[in-house]
Amino acid sequence: MERVERVRGGTIWTENGPVVGDLVIDQEGRIAALVPDVGRGGGAEGGGDAPGSGGGRIIDASGLWVLPGAVDVHVHFREPGLTESEDFLSGSAAAACGGVTTVLDMPNTLPPVSDGAALAAKLEAVRGRSYVDYGLFGAAVAGGEETLAARVEELASLGACGIKVFLGPTTGDIAAPGWGALYELCRRWAGSGLVFAFHCEDRDVIRRAAAEEAHLDPEDYRSLLFLRPRFGELLATDGALRLARETGARVHIAHVALKEAVEAIARAKEDGAPVTAETCPHYLLLDEGDYAAVGRAMKALPPVRAREDREALWRGLREGIIDAVATDHAPHRVPGRRGEPVWSPPFGVAGVQSLVPLLVDAAARGLCRVEQVVRWTSANPARAYGLYPRKGRLEPGADADLVVIDPRARWRIERPWWKSKSANTPFWGREGLGAPVCTLVRGWVVAERGEVVGPPRGELLRPRERKAPPV
Ligand SMILES: [Zn+2]
Repeated sequence: MERVERVRGGTIWTENGPVVGDLVIDQEGRIAALVPDVGRGGGAEGGGDAPGSGGGRIIDASGLWVLPGAVDVHVHFREPGLTESEDFLSGSAAAACGGVTTVLDMPNTLPPVSDGAALAAKLEAVRGRSYVDYGLFGAAVAGGEETLAARVEELASLGACGIKVFLGPTTGDIAAPGWGALYELCRRWAGSGLVFAFHCEDRDVIRRAAAEEAHLDPEDYRSLLFLRPRFGELLATDGALRLARETGARVHIAHVALKEAVEAIARAKEDGAPVTAETCPHYLLLDEGDYAAVGRAMKALPPVRAREDREALWRGLREGIIDAVATDHAPHRVPGRRGEPVWSPPFGVAGVQSLVPLLVDAAARGLCRVEQVVRWTSANPARAYGLYPRKGRLEPGADADLVVIDPRARWRIERPWWKSKSANTPFWGREGLGAPVCTLVRGWVVAERGEVVGPPRGELLRPRERKAPPV
């Protein structure tokens, strides 16, 4: 039975800590009540799963953890055009099996989702093909300013969850508008709630650095770092933050990887700029010293850098400067080959399925606390994209999106558990503590014991009404 009416006796984690008790789920798939377990001795009643009186299933979670489903605000499911690497069925199956119940999918596909027609086509193509709830980004790409304004208007009115701005080169090579056009765009949409998500690497700086390729050692990871200078990453980050400060537009900094970027975001937030930021597990759990052991599966953009950057990212999370951990799930079917220069594509880490396991394990290893994992993977990303309080919490009225975790079970990143079409992850073969047992989306079991369950039930998340004020 796939519809659940009660999750009984689990340790329910909120962003403020644990409560032992039952979650009652209504017929619409929302949380009806959280009933603390008083007098039953910590949910030790047990008794196994059973049908409930309301016709749904009762999940016995005694001894298990119940976390709000993760909201991964940065995935690339590669539809349309690149489906040999991933598609919505495989990507969302990976999400569901890993405890991610909402994904926001990026627009750098073939063709890119840069106008209303492309978004309408993508909405149609992915409908009924996701195991988890989803939102779709539009992209702001270079073009005439009139055209850009009209395109973003179309994307927003069709329900894009945000607008992605690729300040550096990316898949599909969609150049961002110049700073002047971005300034106009952000001024126009300030106060609307529309989120502009920035990939912060400066194209010009990267182009200039590329002229030095011939002088670099193609095997040395430091060559990649040289070709993607910190300067370019920081310049782009400063520009995006400045847009938020000067215009009041909602700016989200994707995949923060540098210590100085954390400091710049902290200053912007202190000054009241409407800014949020994410980092990714590969920046938190790896640094350049790992390249010798991990090799090409560690290649991401922006690159994984120094130990002190990694430590600054953890501090940024703990201090609330970085809001969220997202994956930048970037599957590539063809892995980098030995002998190819370290700077040749592909770049990216397929990570949507390992997000929750890696962070729950990080908590087990003392790097953070479980309530912080809830805040960083669920509550805060839902807030950043206007999905809270429907998503990101387990309280009455919220969607019953959750993952049940066995805190004593070990996981290992390998097939057949791994559901992405691509295996480009630096964490391949890694083991850890705290394995997902089952995942619910709006009260339906969508994954259990490492396999998807039932038909794809994911729905498009339509953001609240957003309108650019007339200028
Ligand atoms: Zn990305």
